Amino acid sequence: MHRFFVSPDRIHAGRVYFTEEQAHQIGRVLRLRPGNRVIALDDQGWEYEVVLERIVRHEVDGRIVARRPAHGEPHVHVTLYQAMLKGRRFELVLQKGTELGVGTFVPVVTARTVVGSLSGVSAGKWQRWQRIVTEAAEQSRRGRRPTVEAPLLFDHALSRGERAGEKLFIPWVGPGAMPARQALATLDDDVAAVGVLVGPEGGFAPEEVERARSAGAVPISLGPRVLRAETAAIVAVAVLLYELGEWEARGV
Ligand code: SAM
Repeated sequence: MHRFFVSPDRIHAGRVYFTEEQAHQIGRVLRLRPGNRVIALDDQGWEYEVVLERIVRHEVDGRIVARRPAHGEPHVHVTLYQAMLKGRRFELVLQKGTELGVGTFVPVVTARTVVGSLSGVSAGKWQRWQRIVTEAAEQSRRGRRPTVEAPLLFDHALSRGERAGEKLFIPWVGPGAMPARQALATLDDDVAAVGVLVGPEGGFAPEEVERARSAGAVPISLGPRVLRAETAAIVAVAVLLYELGEWEARGV
């Protein structure tokens, strides 16, 4: 069944009222007809099975026939602090990170960041990022759309992580990095929030890693091969969630 995030105010009196854009997708692109079923997600962890009843040009609505918790959310909240990257690489991180279960993305400006700045996210790019995480969340059966926050300087990212009570890990190609497997094994299974900081194409500056260490972050190695930043982000989140048992099937 096709899945669509809708804001909670579009769900009332046992019905779901889709947006104009979704109406176009449902009626014109997918060519669904009255009687077909779709899933509406309220972005708060619930999913609704809906029988479509009215499909006209800009308006589609339907009747809710079942309501149940969405199964796609990890038990742990993962924040990915990703140094801004060139071209489409950051978008790849958003898409794959969403599929894996990232809850919040924070673009970070680091000492060696070569693209982007604190004010450098245009409205068009912002909308595009929202679309990417929404589509990836629908496709991967998430119950919530991840949040994409405004860019932060590296040190502010560290303090954000501390304030949020996150256990922080910083993949680092350099001396003193603990093998990821060993570092992640120390995590309690019921840890509530974890942050992962991934560097830009040129890597973190050693001073940044020292400041991260002072803030409680654990430098980790992802093995002897140097991965592209976007690969490192995907791998780090995947091994973290694997270690926390998030790769077990839960009603998918
Ligand atoms: N020459 C750079 C360096 O020495 O840091 C390589 C940077 S790598 C292309 C970009 C980011 O991916 C790094 O800052 C790090 O966060 C992560 N990364 C890539 N490969 C890694 C590995 N094998 N272990 C840990 N982190 C890695």
